[in-house]
Amino acid sequence: MQIYNLQSPVLNNKPDKEVEDIIRKEIDRQNHNITLIASENYASPAVLDAMGSVFTNKYAEGYPKHRYYEGCEYVDEIESLARNRLNELFNSEYCNVQPHSGVQANTAVYLAILKPHDKILSMNLKDGGHLSHGNVMNISGRYYEVHFYNVDRETEQMDYEVIKKMAKEIRPKLIIAGASSYPRTIDFKKFREIADETGAYLMADIAHIAGLIAGDMHPTSIGLADFTTGTTHKTLRGPRGGFIIAEKKYATLLDTGIFPGTQGGPLVHMIAGKAVAFKEALEPSFKKYAKNIVENCKALCGFLKNEGFRIVSGGTDNHLFLIDLTQLDMTGQDASTTLASLNIVLNKNVIPFDKLSPNLTSGIRIGTAAATARGMGMEEMQKIGEWISFVLKNWQNRTKIAPIKGKARKLADEFPVYNY
Ligand code: PLP
Repeated sequence: MQIYNLQSPVLNNKPDKEVEDIIRKEIDRQNHNITLIASENYASPAVLDAMGSVFTNKYAEGYPKHRYYEGCEYVDEIESLARNRLNELFNSEYCNVQPHSGVQANTAVYLAILKPHDKILSMNLKDGGHLSHGNVMNISGRYYEVHFYNVDRETEQMDYEVIKKMAKEIRPKLIIAGASSYPRTIDFKKFREIADETGAYLMADIAHIAGLIAGDMHPTSIGLADFTTGTTHKTLRGPRGGFIIAEKKYATLLDTGIFPGTQGGPLVHMIAGKAVAFKEALEPSFKKYAKNIVENCKALCGFLKNEGFRIVSGGTDNHLFLIDLTQLDMTGQDASTTLASLNIVLNKNVIPFDKLSPNLTSGIRIGTAAATARGMGMEEMQKIGEWISFVLKNWQNRTKIAPIKGKARKLADEFPVYNY
């Protein structure tokens, strides 16, 4: 966009060469590596432009038409636009686009509806849950009494009967449905039934699957969960940030949960970026994108399963899957660092009933949202699958696996993301 031409004689107009060089190195890194981190994606230049806009200069505590600062007429316009677009995308009646991140969105919901020591029932971290769903190191685990449900040992999938039984025993004030590393469809209808039977609120954290829901590749939580929280930077392919969706009757509670409850002034430049991303997700092409993410994921997962790797839960329904490395005598840490050194970037991940710590882990998590965003398809998934398989099976033989680096980089370079 390049809409800025500095007029002020006082402001510094010199580019910061040091920072610019680091940014260029990061652009190169993103271009030359195949990113399979399930929570990452590439924001479009229009999103990046909006994020880098003069809206960063503006203080705007409050909400449209109710601000604590003057000069907010265009802030009101951009925030209202972002809200309207998000409501259109998810067919919702109320949303808040101010959360700085997914954790901020979750924390604001807790503050809005819970009192300290109230009970939460959420998914165990090792089984796919998130730190902000009650981990002892997170505010959620310190302020509330948290109980965790696990996946079934056999199927490694959620067992809704067990969750219901737990909910009946524990009587939580809030049940959380949502995950960071759960490769299967989440049945929000079943969660609604459980919440209704036990008198709990239901919060769906769709941080990972927001783009899949927007693209009709995962059943929606809207209309079922009392509160839906999410992030804009994962499958939704927008700027880093969060959002909350709910019925209108919760508007004041949730708005105050964000400001002044847990945040100060909104990051209006990020809200501008969100507005752009929501429009992009409303385009018909986004549905195709979401479909391709899942197709690519199933293809890559299926390939690696045929190569003999144990896939947690036996497969995937969404944008990610987990490989259990236990039989290979390697940790997730070994696998992720070895692959990263060969230009294939993914993350180590705990798996259900993992005996290793989150620093080592017995698994890796693989996601296809970013690779799909750069235009990769079935053919590329096959190549990437072959390389991952080869590297994992020969990871201690550096000489043998070294040529994969050049191959992965060449493939990445055939699908450039950004140029400068
Ligand atoms: N909720 C879930 C389910 C997530 O997977 C994540 C991030 O990975 C978050 C919340 C937190 O998002 P953020 O990093 O934006 O705070």
